[in-house]
Amino acid sequence: MVIENYKKIREAIDEVCAGCGRDKNDVLLLAVSKTKPLSDIEELITIGVKDFGENKVQELVKKKEEVSTPVNFHLIGHLQTNKVKQAVGNACLIHSVDSFHLAEKIEQEAAKKDITVDILIEVNVADEESKFGLMVEDTPALVEQIAENCPHIRIKGLMTIAPFVEDPEENRPVFRTLRQLALDIKSKKLDNVTMGVLSMGMTNDYKVAIEEGATIVRVGTAIFGERNYNI
Ligand SMILES: *Cc1c(COP(=O)(O)O)cnc(C)c1O
Repeated sequence: MVIENYKKIREAIDEVCAGCGRDKNDVLLLAVSKTKPLSDIEELITIGVKDFGENKVQELVKKKEEVSTPVNFHLIGHLQTNKVKQAVGNACLIHSVDSFHLAEKIEQEAAKKDITVDILIEVNVADEESKFGLMVEDTPALVEQIAENCPHIRIKGLMTIAPFVEDPEENRPVFRTLRQLALDIKSKKLDNVTMGVLSMGMTNDYKVAIEEGATIVRVGTAIFGERNYNI
């Protein structure tokens, strides 16, 4: 079932790309496997899927250790500073950096392990009640601060979680704002900052996100079905 679902979403993505004149190879379908069993991941690996998204560091590390074939695990959930040690070196990309304090911890751990860590800055574009993510207007300053002080961190782009809405069109301005923000930051040409990655769009709104420039869409429910947090 997950294979069929994945293929269906991938085809839909390719269609949206064709419709808006984008190269389908520029959009990664990140399979958000949080709360789902390893067997689902193994199934998708048989058709060549290599990128999975997890919310919790512990779950990410466990799945990474147990999976039969090396694949990329992205950390998409909020990262607490006391979990940084485990996240650094295990997550291929941390989508959720939203403070200098957190970046400093990542820098320290990366320096200790002598590796470079790829991150995205999480921006709270829609200004929801959500505690996580940075305000749009505070983002350029944080990017500069990290670029200046954290030589073991590469800022690859921006991430946002758009609000849940009935009509995905409502989120178009959110995605457009994130893209424009990335362009503004890119124009500063900072060291270790590239801004090529826009992680935006989920099950309900990934099509609109792609039309607005998403390079990673994070899709869980449409691939794996509804999540049950009570098990
Ligand atoms: C769970 C989650 C997703 C996937 O959401 P779906 O609506 O199931 O596609 C995407 N991004 C983040 C940050 C998530 O926590």
